[in-house]
Parts: sequence; C-alpha cells; structure tokens
Amino acid sequence: MTAPLPAASRLPLRDELRGLEPYGAPQLDVPVLLNVNENPYPPSDAVVAEIAAAVADAARGLNRYPDRDFAALRADLATYLGVESGVRPRPDQVWAANGSNEVMLHLLQAFGGPGRTALSFAPTYSMYPEYARDTSTRWVAGRRADDFTLDLEHVRAQVAEHQPSVILLASPNNPTGTALPLDEVEEVLDAADGVAGGCVVVVDEAYGEFRRAGTPSALELLERHPSLAVSRTMSKAFGLAGARVGYLVADRSLVDALRVVRLPYHLSAVTQAVARAALAHSAALMAQVGSLRDERDATVAWLRSRGLTVADSDANFVLFGTFDDRHAVWQGLLDRGVLIRETGPRGWLRVSIGTPEEMAAFRAALVEVAQL
Ligand code: PMP
Repeated sequence: MTAPLPAASRLPLRDELRGLEPYGAPQLDVPVLLNVNENPYPPSDAVVAEIAAAVADAARGLNRYPDRDFAALRADLATYLGVESGVRPRPDQVWAANGSNEVMLHLLQAFGGPGRTALSFAPTYSMYPEYARDTSTRWVAGRRADDFTLDLEHVRAQVAEHQPSVILLASPNNPTGTALPLDEVEEVLDAADGVAGGCVVVVDEAYGEFRRAGTPSALELLERHPSLAVSRTMSKAFGLAGARVGYLVADRSLVDALRVVRLPYHLSAVTQAVARAALAHSAALMAQVGSLRDERDATVAWLRSRGLTVADSDANFVLFGTFDDRHAVWQGLLDRGVLIRETGPRGWLRVSIGTPEEMAAFRAALVEVAQL
C-alpha cells in the first residue's frame, strides 16, 4: 500500500504555480516606511469627512448592486484628466478597476491568453510577468539600455521576433523612475502596428503626476492611436492606495473589450463613492505632489553629492547605488527604522519619497550604514 500524499501536494495546482510565493514587499512595522511608493500624506480631515459622508450615502443603497458601468465615476475621471493633462477623454474611453493592477489584468485577459505573448523591457514593474502568468500569456522581457532608457532598435527587433499582442511600458518606469519621451512611445506604436494579429501598447502612468515639467503624458497620443491604452491610478499622487482605484483611457473599442472580461459589479458602490468624493477634492488631495517632486529632486542631488549613482527620476521614488552588498545596506537602514526596497538590478536600491522628516531619517541612516 502506498502512503497517501500530503494534502497540499494532492491539490491540482497549475504546474506553473507550484512552489510560488504571493507577490509583495515585506509588510514590517517600522517608523519610516519608504518601500512601496506610497504617498506619505494622508487625506486631510476635511477630505476624510467628505469621503465618510459619501460612503454613508452609498451605504443606504447597499442592498442593491452598484452601477455596473460606473458611469458617474468615468465622467469624473475624464474631467480630472482634462485638468491634469490637458487631454479630456470622453467618459466611454475611460475604464476603472480595483487598482491599476486589476486594470492591467483585464488588459491581459482580453488581449493576452494561451498562444499569445506579452512583451516588456526590464528592469520594470515586477507584477507584469504575473499578469502574464495568470492569464497563460507567454512572457518576454527584453532589456533596457544601461541608463534604463529604451533601446529602440532592440525594441523593434523584439517586436518583430516575438509578435506580441500586448506591450507593457511603464512611464515613469518602476523601479528606475525613467519616463519615456512621446516620440519613443510613437516608435513603439509604429513597431506594434507591424504585428500581424494586432498589438495593444499599454503605457502605465501609475506615477504620471510626478513627471517633471516638460515631460508630456502619453494621453496626448490617444487620438491618433486606437491600439494605445494609458493606465493611471489613484494610489500614488492622490494618496489613496488603500481605496484601490486604478483606471485607463483608450479608444472606445478597446474599453468595450475590457467590459467583456470584467466580473459583474467589480467596482463596489463603496469604492465608487470614495473615488468620486476624492476626485471632487483632487486639488486638496494632490496639494503635496509639488513638494514630493521637490523632495525627490533634492534626494537625487544629495545622493549624487555623496558619490552615488542615481537614475534620473520622474516618479515619487529614486533608484540609487551601486553597492557590493545591497542587502547589508537595506538591512542596516531597517535596523535604524527606515524601510526601503531591495529591488532593481544587482547592487541598486529604491527609496520612495516621504515627508522631509522621513527623508532626513533616511539620509542620516544611509550616511551611517554606507559610510558616506
Ligand atoms: N504600475 C506600476 C508601475 C506600479 O509601480 C504600481 C504599484 N506599485 C502599479 C501599477 C499598481 O498600482 P495600483 O494597483 O495600486 O493602482
């Protein structure tokens, strides 16, 4: 008689998931949290009160399913984008979900799948291969140049070779902070137009609001490119990571394809209410974006003045290095109450931009640990 298998190994888990751990940075209880690119400023008491009132109102109707197409939220997002970027989409060009993570999963569900390929260029956001895996899409990571910009010749070659149905470009890129000039995005769109079966190009602007003056948004390209999708989130500039609201803008036909794969009522009435209340106060919520940008630029300058190599950043974080033993530096900072992220190419570390006090704590700890 053979011994029964332990319960876990009897589960019919998909082969590609065996032995895998869930994605996520360590959630540690540390005084200075600079590890997941959050906005360090919570909503003001006034905004909290507005959000609470909106949720109370929504609660009165919670016996009913929410508006499946979240028409009011789409209209509010379109208005916000018009103010933020100068490009005001029609509401039917807007899509939203529980974080831009879910928006991108919808994209892969609609445009990826078995026998298809998603292409990106590393180092980049580490969730991209997971969206591909979870939708049984083949994942191909080309490379970025040494300065983390796109090597367009390599991009064209990779597109021609792999014939992807989806290309994912983060701009500003995580973890490097690198933004893409629009002429480069257009070059990628041109290459994608050459893919026989069609190819959707996703520009992930999760950190778009932190871009430096003179760096335009890919929203400006939407009118001319029906296979472009520009993704945004309320998690970063809005300081609403806990609310889980991400969205994208694209041609209506692309958005209609996403409506097919979403679960019914995926965006709860509470989420819709919170997002709309927040959008009504976008100026107040985003009041700190300018000071975070300034703090970012000061952090880049300080790190460089200490002899470190720092990637140019259009985001609310900075990639710096390089260290022979980056883990020791990360651990040394943690021992001093400062949690940053051990990510990116070997030898580099990433720090999110916090309050001036938090950045002072980061600098003091780094001077000690790295003997700067
Ligand atoms: N895109 C990029 C590049 C990110 O860094 C993140 C969050 N770290 C996301 C998307 C997802 O953010 P959210 O799901 O909170 O909108």
